Amino acid sequence: MNALKRNQVLKGKHGGMQLVLTEDVPHLGKQGEVVLLKIGVGGDATAVTGQFLSRRIPFFRDGDRYLGLIGIDLQDAPGMHELTLDVVSPQGHRTLSYNVLVIKEHYPVQHLTLPKDKVDLDDDNLVRVKAEQEIVRTALNQISQERLWNVAFVQPVEGPTTGAFGRLRIINGQARNSHNGEDIAAPLGTEVAVMNDGIVRLTVDHFFSGKGVYVDHGLGLYSMYFHLSQILVEPGQAVTRGQVIGKVGASGRASGPHLHWGVRVNGARVNPLSLTKLSFTPVPASVR
Ligand SMILES: [Zn+2]
Repeated sequence: MNALKRNQVLKGKHGGMQLVLTEDVPHLGKQGEVVLLKIGVGGDATAVTGQFLSRRIPFFRDGDRYLGLIGIDLQDAPGMHELTLDVVSPQGHRTLSYNVLVIKEHYPVQHLTLPKDKVDLDDDNLVRVKAEQEIVRTALNQISQERLWNVAFVQPVEGPTTGAFGRLRIINGQARNSHNGEDIAAPLGTEVAVMNDGIVRLTVDHFFSGKGVYVDHGLGLYSMYFHLSQILVEPGQAVTRGQVIGKVGASGRASGPHLHWGVRVNGARVNPLSLTKLSFTPVPASVR
């Protein structure tokens, strides 16, 4: 039998109607969103690992199903992408395939004109920033193989979110990095709660982020909290959802007291608010 491609359209048959072969329903996600995938793979599966774009996604067992968080990076290309799952069982490996439709998000663009010396880093600070980026990259590349988080996530600080996630700043005509977290306005000294259970991996006092805390939630999920006035935890310390880990400040490069809250899912930069509104609809997989 000829292999029919997913979403192949057969024309002129079936009484003139078009038949669209959809082996599965695509998962939808906007750039910067998290998709929670729940799959039934049979009771004998012992491990499930996903691959989406260049990112490896470990799944975890939840009763008779496996769950995985698929992070869509804020700059993933819009369009249909394949998510493949490698399912290991005593019989061997099986591959499941899903469609994930990445929808374009329209992020705000901000044009600023600033004096050159306020924008460009001097040599010393450039060296410092590069070294700090390396420290963060090394820390976030470590993937704890155990899930430490529970399904419900909390916002670390109550307060107005500013919708700053993904914002592109063009300063003096030059595009800067997209803003890869959400900013929450809150008074100096407001307590900052960790969004879920995890282990503190890194505490820093960096040029841009100021006093910051990085929390490992396992399976490649990290959260980060920047511009703090005070850090109340230490690297290696286990924390539970809602625990106070620091206080709101304006350290680092911040124009005033606020919390910068960032989340990485297996390397994808996602809007942390999308974790607090995860949807739980299961979709059947196609087997090949
Ligand atoms: Zn920010």
